[in-house]
Amino acid sequence: MKDSDLHQLVCTISEQEFQKPFRHKAYFNKRLRTTGGRYLLQSHNIEINPKAYEQYGLEEIKGIIRHELCHYHLHLEGRGYQHRDADFRMLLKKANAPRFCSNLDGGKRRSSSKRYTYICVKCGTNYHRKIRMNTAKYRCSKCLGNLVLKK
Ligand SMILES: [Zn+2]
Ligand SMILES: [Zn+2]
Repeated sequence: MKDSDLHQLVCTISEQEFQKPFRHKAYFNKRLRTTGGRYLLQSHNIEINPKAYEQYGLEEIKGIIRHELCHYHLHLEGRGYQHRDADFRMLLKKANAPRFCSNLDGGKRRSSSKRYTYICVKCGTNYHRKIRMNTAKYRCSKCLGNLVLKK
């Protein structure tokens, strides 16, 4: 997924879930570490952690975007845009957005449970596991290639 795809996705979600346009920029920021995304108060841009997409996929990104759009729209409208604000909590619920994310007020991500990604050396298929697996025992289900732990 490219920055332009991400931007388009944010615009679409904004129109569909909030019935309001997104007029700023959305892009991936590799330097985000523990958060899935953040809303920048000064530029009004939304940054998304590419690792969230790589590790958890599209649905995860959509949740993060809905969350960041709650900050975005409330902030632009001069309403309570922080995690502790009632406006924010109500909009989160309405938009069916997850509560985690963001550096705005130090809100924590849902959990820190570690996950492991294994990649097939032959065909490149990724496997996500909550526990470590014995790579001597398991093989790629598509091509039977060897699996290696991705760091
Ligand atoms: Zn947030
Ligand atoms: Zn394979």
